[in-house]
Amino acid sequence: MSGSVVIVGIGPGDEALITPEVSAALAAATDILGYIPYIARIAPREGLALHASDNRQEIDRAGHALSLAAAGRQVVVVSSGDPGVFAMAAAVFEALERAPELHGLDIRVLPGVTAMLAAAARAGAPLGCDFCAINLSDNLKPWPLVETRLRLAAQADFAMALYNPRSASRPHQFARALEVLREVCSGPRLVIFARAVTTPNERIETVALADARPDMADMRTVVLVGNSTTRRVGRHIYSSRRTG
Ligand code: SAH
Repeated sequence: MSGSVVIVGIGPGDEALITPEVSAALAAATDILGYIPYIARIAPREGLALHASDNRQEIDRAGHALSLAAAGRQVVVVSSGDPGVFAMAAAVFEALERAPELHGLDIRVLPGVTAMLAAAARAGAPLGCDFCAINLSDNLKPWPLVETRLRLAAQADFAMALYNPRSASRPHQFARALEVLREVCSGPRLVIFARAVTTPNERIETVALADARPDMADMRTVVLVGNSTTRRVGRHIYSSRRTG
């Protein structure tokens, strides 16, 4: 039988948010590859090889997935959330670009519930207006570009989802991101810190931009920044579909 690579998103944490087609792909796999904590979420079974690797080894993992599939295995690559959002789908295609002899392989991407949508649903509808998603990590792009994108998105009055806001190796950049937002946003803005959404450790905290502190975010947090229309209604937060 010929091999395949299926790149799947296993959602933000709760099993109920894994789609049926992703569950079916996991059940049919001979090999599942992914970052160590995501592989820990997969139940072992007879005939299934689990390949856990470190976070920084995405391209190696992608290349490994392609070569296993070329050898006839049914390979699944897992990402948290959605595999196309700052995750493994792009890494697999990057590895494929370097391997023209594998361009005919059967490769599919199955969507998942990305962190910003799970977080937004918890809060209400803070992404109900035009919004954008920005990865604050500068591992793969220069920090000045991150600042430019933040500044222009704030000027254009987008709501925003900020992924990878802060890590131990980059403690100062989220503080700088908050400064940029305060410089550009003239009126009040709501900021939602959504941590470990849909897991037992979930914590959702909403503050005014003026009161947002860098230590409110870590690598398990997605930060939603409202636009000028984002407001509270009862216990909920929503952004208007109309301007102003
Ligand atoms: N592919 C993933 C994102 C990977 S980048 C997705 O679609 O969700 C990793 C970042 O995602 C984290 O730093 C955090 O900002 C966010 N994230 C992932 N899972 C999360 C969760 N359960 N709660 C809050 N943020 C989460």
